[in-house]
Amino acid sequence: MVDVIVIGAGAAGLMCALTAGKRGRKVLVLEHANKVGKKILMSGGGRCNFTNTVVDPDDFVSNNPHFCKSALSRYTPWDFIDLVENHEVSYHEKKLGQLFCDNKSSDILGILLRECAAAGVEIKTHCSISSVSKKEQFVIESTQGVFKADSFVVATGGLSIPTMGATGLGYQLAQQFDHEIVPTEAALVPFTLSKQQLAAFDGLAGVSAEIVVSCGNQSFREAMLFTHRGLSGPAMLQISTYWQPGEDIIINWLPELDVLAYLQNQQQERPNTELKTVLAEHLSKRLIQRLCEYDGVSVIDNKPLRQYAHQQIVELAGYLSSWSIMPAGTEGYRTAEVTKGGVATDFVSSKTFESQLVSGLYFIGEVLDVSGHLGGFNFQWAWASGVAAGQVA
Ligand SMILES: Cc1cc2nc3c(=O)[nH]c(=O)nc-3n(C[C@H](O)[C@H](O)[C@H](O)COP(=O)(O)OP(=O)(O)OC[C@H]3O[C@@H](n4cnc5c(N)ncnc54)[C@H](O)[C@@H]3O)c2cc1C
Repeated sequence: MVDVIVIGAGAAGLMCALTAGKRGRKVLVLEHANKVGKKILMSGGGRCNFTNTVVDPDDFVSNNPHFCKSALSRYTPWDFIDLVENHEVSYHEKKLGQLFCDNKSSDILGILLRECAAAGVEIKTHCSISSVSKKEQFVIESTQGVFKADSFVVATGGLSIPTMGATGLGYQLAQQFDHEIVPTEAALVPFTLSKQQLAAFDGLAGVSAEIVVSCGNQSFREAMLFTHRGLSGPAMLQISTYWQPGEDIIINWLPELDVLAYLQNQQQERPNTELKTVLAEHLSKRLIQRLCEYDGVSVIDNKPLRQYAHQQIVELAGYLSSWSIMPAGTEGYRTAEVTKGGVATDFVSSKTFESQLVSGLYFIGEVLDVSGHLGGFNFQWAWASGVAAGQVA
């Protein structure tokens, strides 16, 4: 018998556990994997992009865009930065406000585990849950015995990277207690391309470019990368969250330029220079070559600029700034960084994260229908929702 049981020793679960433990609550964390915090360890290329200095509700996707506001405003990036500094973990800003550890992701997990230990939190790994029921208290049957608690926190994360311990248990528990699930999808995930598309881009694997990519009303200016299987890099991961199968994504290959004005200007200034030479000042030559061949498009042929008629320059500018491609699919949960969708926020308090259907039941972190953009936002959500629940559970 404890006060609080948390299922899932990931970012949100550990943050919730240490917060409740500091209040004097007796907290037990049950984790089915052999180790805690596996996603923290593999995050940010091994350096954990643990938060972002500028966190805005617009950086999160949910059926209810207001849901994330309260927790994010009460536990800010600066609160987590204070914690990091108190533990003397060194960090740096990489770009766009993204904060990474100087050394290893394990520095962040170390902070959480030391705080949990100081707060008297007990953590059990290798613990598989077979059933959860609620009578007076929550009763959890597991491979390590039967546990009871007044508060029960579901922090099982999303479905991405099943080999790291992801399961759908959180969604099953939500449904058991009459919460709806917003259909889940892999997000922050690379795109795959068809065989024909890959053949057209042969030789480009490893080529990257700073672009603006758009899908619907959303766009991101970041780097993209051609891979042997498709399109990746931060720009593609970001837009994947907004993409639906069958949709085109639109790429502006020259986002730093007003392409039409630039080409017209170059035509006047350097009429004898060939088009490819002008473009090669901004894009990789291999990429230009492949764009010329893609789908047999002949818009970009290689003549001296003076030989292009006005209309051709207009078409060329349109082609380079609104180039469209329909990905075949995504790499799915195998490599996705997050899961879009999840436990519907409708009957969950945005202040305490307690269920409005079952008292004492809480949902925090990625298991909820809230997913962040790339850049430290998903961890900030895990910290903020974990703290909010830990303050009351
Ligand atoms: C490769 C990769 C890199 C990432 N890099 C970043 C980054 O740099 N910055 C960032 O902000 N976000 C990053 N993310 C996203 C971030 O890791 C997650 O959004 C965040 O970990 C979610 O926290 P959580 O506690 O909700 O879930 P998780 O951290 O996934 O924790 C859930 C825990 O529950 C456990 N669990 C699951 N099912 C059960 C069960 N049936 N019984 C018991 N326990 C269970 C899991 O084993 C896990 O320990 C990355 C994700 C991936 C996959």
